[in-house]
Amino acid sequence: MSRAFNFSAGPATLPEPVLRQAQAEMLEFGNAGASIVELSHRGPEFIAVAQQTEADLRKLLSIPDDYAVIFTSGGATTIQALLPLNFAEAGQAADYVVTGHWGKTALKQAKPYVAANVAANGEAGGYRSIPARGEWHLSPDAAYVHITANETIHGVEFRDIPETGKVPLVGDFSSSIASEPLDIRKFGAIYAGAQKNLGPVGISVLIVDRELLERAGQPRADIFDYRSQLKAESMLNTPPSWNWYMLGLTVKWMLDEGGVAEFAARNARKAAVLYDVIDKSGGFYRNEVEAAVRSRMNVPFFLFDEALDKPFLKEAAAAGLISLKGHRALGGMRASIYNAMPEAGVQALADFMKDFQARNG
Ligand code: PMP
Repeated sequence: MSRAFNFSAGPATLPEPVLRQAQAEMLEFGNAGASIVELSHRGPEFIAVAQQTEADLRKLLSIPDDYAVIFTSGGATTIQALLPLNFAEAGQAADYVVTGHWGKTALKQAKPYVAANVAANGEAGGYRSIPARGEWHLSPDAAYVHITANETIHGVEFRDIPETGKVPLVGDFSSSIASEPLDIRKFGAIYAGAQKNLGPVGISVLIVDRELLERAGQPRADIFDYRSQLKAESMLNTPPSWNWYMLGLTVKWMLDEGGVAEFAARNARKAAVLYDVIDKSGGFYRNEVEAAVRSRMNVPFFLFDEALDKPFLKEAAAAGLISLKGHRALGGMRASIYNAMPEAGVQALADFMKDFQARNG
């Protein structure tokens, strides 16, 4: 068996101990006589998994008791569409700060349900920076302000949390949840698809101030109603139980490794190693994001000559470094270095990049 260092943006690399435990428990979960994926979500085994997962996630992220945790399927995109239905009145303003592809997606999903206002937009500058706070045009009566904490494609990350007064802030943390300590009280809600830092694709997490859940929102089916979901303990219908279980194992692994403070330190070191190689390459490699808002999770970069892209990817793969191709919207390369990417993987990539430059520069 040869597991490579996998820099995929999501679905992304998972901790090896998590995969091993899942493998060991695949045929029989404890003494249940069946796999967890074969058992009823109403049975004692899965109920215990679900409860432990929430308790561990609350511990890992220091989630205050007055915030609810809801596990959902449908990915972060579905949450983006349900935010306005749950937390805004029909026709009410909602502010969107667009700092990359995923902010744009959030805006698109909300548009049918609210008066979506683009409070700030980094598009004209190619999403290489975050518009200065003084230039944001926030609506005083907005239902919420939406930001994308980390733009997975453009590699732009908020390094401080904007102050939005009495208008609740909603953050898409799909690609940076649990990567560093976060004061959840500064948000009305945060959400994330699991497939980067939390586990496998197929489950997402919404962490929401219980006060926001009291808002009437707009007419919607029960299944789209986060109050109903919470009341049903995220099991209004059959939940993605396997993904939930895997998320639980991943969260437990992060706690065992030392929690978010430890990952913040590792992630800062990993990002510094890669940006250093890029910045010291004399233009062989390029990342044009403003230094202060460069992502710690996704490092997009370009080679000075596009003709080198193919050989770079081929030789990297041969060296055990896979999934480095950039998103089709940007081209170039992208190294995603979430919590489960070991420092040794990033060091191996840095060494390969220096060697590739020496041979092709
Ligand atoms: N937001 C961000 C920041 C993302 O990176 C992604 C997926 N890459 C999404 C939203 C969409 O997530 P999903 O595919 O789970 O709907």
